[in-house]
Amino acid sequence: MTGELIGAGVLGAAGAFGAYWYLKFRDVLPMETSLHASKKALADFTVFARETMERAFAPEQPEHYGDITSYYLMKLHKSFPDSSILLFEKGAGQWLLVNYLKYFKAEPKLLTSYKWSAFDRSSIEGELLRFDDVHAGDYQGVEELFSAFGIKSALMCPFRAAAGAPERLILFGASGPSFFDAALPYLRFVASQLSSISKVSDKVFSLKKETDQLKNEVNAVVKELDVAGSRLIQRARERKALYEVVTKVTGPGGDAQNGCSAILNIVAKMVEGDVVACLLYDEAKGELVVSPGAYGIPDEDRMSYSIPVSNHSSASVRTFLSRKPFLSDDAQNDPDVLARYAKLWEIHSLMIVPISLHDRIIGVMRVGSRRKDFFTPDQLEFLTIIADELAIIIEMVTLYENLSKTAEELAQLNKLKDEFLATVSHELKTPLTTIKGFVSVILSGEVGPLNEQQINFLTVTDQSVNRLTHLISDLLDLSRLNGKVEMEFQNVNLSELVRSSISTMHLKATEKNVTISNETVKDLPPVHADTRWIGQVVDNLLINAIKYAGAGASVKVTGSDKGEAVVICVEDNGPGIPHEEQKMIFDKFYRGKASASTVPGTGLGLAISKSVVEKHGGKIWLESKPGKGSKFCFALPIAKQQGNTDGR
Ligand code: ADP
Repeated sequence: MTGELIGAGVLGAAGAFGAYWYLKFRDVLPMETSLHASKKALADFTVFARETMERAFAPEQPEHYGDITSYYLMKLHKSFPDSSILLFEKGAGQWLLVNYLKYFKAEPKLLTSYKWSAFDRSSIEGELLRFDDVHAGDYQGVEELFSAFGIKSALMCPFRAAAGAPERLILFGASGPSFFDAALPYLRFVASQLSSISKVSDKVFSLKKETDQLKNEVNAVVKELDVAGSRLIQRARERKALYEVVTKVTGPGGDAQNGCSAILNIVAKMVEGDVVACLLYDEAKGELVVSPGAYGIPDEDRMSYSIPVSNHSSASVRTFLSRKPFLSDDAQNDPDVLARYAKLWEIHSLMIVPISLHDRIIGVMRVGSRRKDFFTPDQLEFLTIIADELAIIIEMVTLYENLSKTAEELAQLNKLKDEFLATVSHELKTPLTTIKGFVSVILSGEVGPLNEQQINFLTVTDQSVNRLTHLISDLLDLSRLNGKVEMEFQNVNLSELVRSSISTMHLKATEKNVTISNETVKDLPPVHADTRWIGQVVDNLLINAIKYAGAGASVKVTGSDKGEAVVICVEDNGPGIPHEEQKMIFDKFYRGKASASTVPGTGLGLAISKSVVEKHGGKIWLESKPGKGSKFCFALPIAKQQGNTDGR
């Protein structure tokens, strides 16, 4: 009994325990299942959110916003494969279906505009709009669309697209409302993401717009600077080119004639002109005549190119008269231009500027181009500047031409004079030799005795003949030196030459009671010289010293090696030469005032000496202190080792 009771008690307790747990699990199990489902939903949503966020970016171009939207919609559809995701875009009171995701074959005809009052409402309210049973409400306008997708319930989520872009909305369609609880957080998340991205994008767009604008502005400034810079460089180049031409023309050995055409060539290059010419005013003819050196004009045309200044229909004439620059874009069809020349040289664009010198207008410069509408006011200004430089060059050309003409005439005259001198001197010399011969014979008494008066007369005659012979031989020397005198250069020892010259002068010096001392260094290096001509120089200096220093004077000759040259000096203690005469002393026919009437002479000795020394590549000079004597020196370059044997 007890055993049965115990057994019954145990069973009873077990049953109660079972019942207790049964009751307990009956409540907990469904909760457990739902908790599990929620956990999974949360995990799925987390994955969805993480993945989409990872791919989220703020597009820089408004059109890329569509790509992001499409990506979100695709992800959404992947999470709810049985749903339909439709994307609408607002336009002109209707909503255009721009994209959809549903597992059926695309039907392009569905991608069209729809009008449904709920669309507008949804977009106005800016929040999710839920239709649990679309058929219960008014869905006029989208019946066909909804039935094509099998949509029974719909969730709409508007979102703001980029600024300026049309409004958009996502429609999440399902076969029943049961989907919505799960889909709601997804849709909210997508809508808020798209909206945030859109807002960020808006900022990015406007920033980008501002950046682009700034970039454009900076670019424009840089471009302007570039243009200004290249214009400056161009100007600098033009100036440099001009400077070079002007230097070439005005500098030593300048070539004015070529300078003019060089300037026209430069102008042609600088402004890319096809024809550049100067028309200068010919006062005698009353015409503007094309000057030599024109660029791009054939010679034969140049000859016939002149316009009377009375022809006012010529733009060149008008520029010449008014001094106002002229610019034409199409000279061949411009009533203000003489079409004849424009056609002759096939030019269209034309610039004309006045050329004036010190307020005096001397002509015009014309620059033409074969292209229409080619020259700019800037180039016209440049041309005006050039025209000023050109005026100076033209003036130089004119002067140069006049000078060359005069120089030519002078050379011709000089030649005639030399020829005349040579002939006359020669013709005079022969009879003089005869006269001198006979006078000496008579004076010697060989042909009969002479009384005192006869001797006196004949002596004066003899002296006069001597002077005349002297003058003639000086003139002959001079004319030879002016022409192409043949010098016989050789290495000459100047100390030897000086010694021999002094000994020839000895008699003359004694007659005048003048003493000559020679302090010439004996072993002077040789110079390259013609003995006869250099001997004549030393003779001249000695004769002058004896003649002008006066009775009782002393003359000193020195010769020294100065490294590059040998210097010979003839020094006397005579009256010297006044300062004002010193610079004329080497001129032809110049004779000192003090002695001209008392001492015989021709005024040619020093001129001849200067010419001879210079023909030897040397130099002659005077050092004189009035009242303390004169010192004439000349220097000749020392001969090179091998000896220079070519004629100078
Ligand atoms: P000329 O002796 O025939 O007059 P030069 O050409 O030799 O011609 O000399 C020119 C002038 O120089 C002389 O007339 C004289 O006045 C001056 N002259 C030359 N040598 C001397 C000198 N040693 N002392 C003073 N005057 C001199």
